[in-house]
Amino acid sequence: MHDQNPVFIPGPTNIPDRIRRAMNTPTLDHRSPDFAGVLKPVLDDLKKVFKTAAGEILIFPASGTGGWEASVTNTLSPGDKVLVARYGMFSHRWIELCQRHGLDVEIIECTWGTGAPADRFASRLAEDSRHSIKAVLATHNETATGVRSDIAEVRKAIDASSHPAMFYVDCVSSLASMDFKMDEWGVDIALSGTQKGFMLATGMAIVAASEKAIEATRQASCPRCYFDFGEMLAATKKGSFPYTPTVQLIHGLRASLDMLFEEGLDHVFARHFRIAEGIRRAIAAWDMRLCAESPDLYSDTVSAIYVPDGFDSDELTNHAYNTYRVSFGIGLGEMAGKAFRIGHLGSMTDVMALSGVAAIEMAMKDLGYPVEPGTGVAAAQRYYRETVQTN
Ligand SMILES: *Cc1c(COP(=O)(O)O)cnc(C)c1O
Repeated sequence: MHDQNPVFIPGPTNIPDRIRRAMNTPTLDHRSPDFAGVLKPVLDDLKKVFKTAAGEILIFPASGTGGWEASVTNTLSPGDKVLVARYGMFSHRWIELCQRHGLDVEIIECTWGTGAPADRFASRLAEDSRHSIKAVLATHNETATGVRSDIAEVRKAIDASSHPAMFYVDCVSSLASMDFKMDEWGVDIALSGTQKGFMLATGMAIVAASEKAIEATRQASCPRCYFDFGEMLAATKKGSFPYTPTVQLIHGLRASLDMLFEEGLDHVFARHFRIAEGIRRAIAAWDMRLCAESPDLYSDTVSAIYVPDGFDSDELTNHAYNTYRVSFGIGLGEMAGKAFRIGHLGSMTDVMALSGVAAIEMAMKDLGYPVEPGTGVAAAQRYYRETVQTN
């Protein structure tokens, strides 16, 4: 029965039964009009989630990492300069991917636990009077540290010097859980995946590209084949794919979009905030500290929590799994051994969140943490009781 326990890793997330059933379909000929009838509305509806009218949606069989690769190779050339801040494991991996594609990556180093530094972007862009910087890259939600960055502020930093650089945003662990406004924030490439806010199995990268980004594909000379934007757009316009698509996942995505719209995106975001806030109350009751340095940076999809000095966070997550069969996120990169993560995104309720808080309390007690079981649960319960909507 242990497989009925929810996971508290920040992706892949729990898959609702409705979405699992939607993926259990017989083979559908992907060159048939029936497939086109499924694909086209899914692409249109994804625009509503990215909040873009003018952007184009591309879905590739891949995970989020494939979305990075597709974005970079389709719109940039080896030697192109990109400006990016490193403040966690995911921004770090994106940097590495750019370097391996031969880009000239200028890195702004930031303390892990902080977010995209709009002011430092602004001053660097203002200095770049020859406009050698082709793109600015930001990770909306840094999943390693539980930090949400202010993307609108980064946009303002670019606009402050009227810099023509394109703006790319990784929204893998924020889209469909926290508000994202592609058009309003002037984002040229936004990329996500299926296994986080969309509550689906892993297997597709979802990319939204602005007209400017599509235009840039004409000049971009990074080699690409499988991830070619042009071939993908030409095919999806006709309701098909340049190769065999992940048909079952696209059925699942249909169900996911239906669930998100039935709840209403604003309600989805409010639910994520409320669940996250209850968990933050629990963390405060334990007298433990988030990696995110200030409340404006708190992520509503994942909380990264420092363990007290002298404790090893890997031992805690291993113990929780081996003893209670509940998965929590480990500390990544600089946070290895020092912090664990509670993923609270996607298919998640207050009641599920309480079970995660209770389970990690048991694990902490077993390992001699200075935490009294029940204190975090009580703090979260109090908050959930105060904020519950009854209708
Ligand atoms: C999960 C994630 C990714 C992509 O990882 P995949 O394992 O390739 O799906 C990228 N960026 C962020 C912020 C993520 O959370």
